[in-house]
Amino acid sequence: MKAVIIGAGLGGLLAGAKLTKAGYDVEIFERLPFIGGRFTNLPYKGFKLSTGALHMIPHGSRGPLAQMLKEVGANVTIIDSNPIAVIRKENNEIIAFHDFRNELSLTKQVKLGTVLSYSRKFKPRSEISFRDWVLKYFDDEFLFKLADSFCGWALSLKAKDVPAREMLEIIDNMYLYKGSGIPLGGCSAVTDALSGIIRSNDGRIHTQSNVERIIIDNDMAKRVIVNKKTIDADIVISDIGHFETSRLYESEDLEYSDKISNVKPSKGIKICLSSDEQLIGHSGVFFTPYAQRINGINEVTNADPSLAPPGKHLVMSHQTLISDDLEAEINLGLLDLQQLFPGKEYDVLLIQSYSNGWPVNRASSGNDNGNRTPVENLYIVGDGAKGKGGIEVEGVALGVRNVMAEIGVS
Ligand SMILES: Cc1cc2nc3c(=O)[nH]c(=O)nc-3n(C[C@H](O)[C@H](O)[C@H](O)COP(=O)(O)OP(=O)(O)OC[C@H]3O[C@@H](n4cnc5c(N)ncnc54)[C@H](O)[C@@H]3O)c2cc1C
Repeated sequence: MKAVIIGAGLGGLLAGAKLTKAGYDVEIFERLPFIGGRFTNLPYKGFKLSTGALHMIPHGSRGPLAQMLKEVGANVTIIDSNPIAVIRKENNEIIAFHDFRNELSLTKQVKLGTVLSYSRKFKPRSEISFRDWVLKYFDDEFLFKLADSFCGWALSLKAKDVPAREMLEIIDNMYLYKGSGIPLGGCSAVTDALSGIIRSNDGRIHTQSNVERIIIDNDMAKRVIVNKKTIDADIVISDIGHFETSRLYESEDLEYSDKISNVKPSKGIKICLSSDEQLIGHSGVFFTPYAQRINGINEVTNADPSLAPPGKHLVMSHQTLISDDLEAEINLGLLDLQQLFPGKEYDVLLIQSYSNGWPVNRASSGNDNGNRTPVENLYIVGDGAKGKGGIEVEGVALGVRNVMAEIGVS
């Protein structure tokens, strides 16, 4: 069986590794000169920055991605964060993430326990947002701010833009898999290990190879056109989201076209800092609910010092993009950093913004359209089609697992 994969991002590479292991003849086409998409390293002044991700794997060594890496034999060491996360309160005090309940009155603590266990069991069927869901039960400023900080860091969305249903699935997964981790060597450690597996199983990965067209015949994807060449396929897996994929062929399914054209990506800004001293002091997430724009920060060199030159620390902040005025948003982020680390010395290494064709997530969480398309043997993987409750790359792994189940690969 010949599988053609469009895009060598994490989704395409995970699918490729699973398929080569299952004996498929795999050919991956990537339009850029490098593989890994938004999950690979970007060497800069001796630091290992990244093309997208903050070098974090949301559920660490126990999550769906770690599980899939093990299945395909990818040799990646994931250092679990310790602590998982902390929260900076309005008065600058730092508390452990799981102690957030202690900030609520006793009555609200009891209510939170009851509401959470009920709602995790009976997820809302309506389109209620996570913010409105919180508001329905609690009128509490701290909870609203924490919800925004968490959703901003983990999904690059405001809580008002995340369906409560999806957030409760995410909470389920947090209970199940626990907290985050950092791959030793950064994002590239994951994507390079996967490409190694694919190549060692005779799969081929071509860079600078833009897929221009998918040829459909009798409702089946029969071949793709790449750099003017025609490549036959028994199955086509696309890592570029539903909408971009649909532009490569003519679909007569108007309902599908309508549905996928309404999906919005999530947008964000990452600010990379270098400092001689630790700014955070641990490898977990530093949630900043009271900052104007920054949702959270990590200091990945506390897990893997090799991500910075000797004696330096790599600190990265993330903020969801609130307005279209990029310059104003960046300035607010920089101001936040000054206020979060008063009197501390650091240099701004790089500021990266993510939107449109290079977003934080191709489909914002809770708005995915599954992995199937109207074409029987054409599937979507990647963060344009994450699995339920899957944060970022965990969602990418869950989506790949769904596709493998569809085509009978374990
Ligand atoms: C600022 C930021 C921070 C993030 N932080 C984290 C984090 O810490 N942890 C986490 O889990 N996730 C994080 N993410 C999200 C994570 O990076 C993405 O979800 C993941 O990398 C998406 O992988 P993908 O395979 O879906 O897409 P991509 O990486 O975009 O891969 C798709 C590939 O397809 C190629 N392509 C496009 N069109 C064509 C074509 N026509 N022909 C051939 N190739 C094509 C593209 O060039 C690209 O390489 C972050 C993202 C951003 C932007």
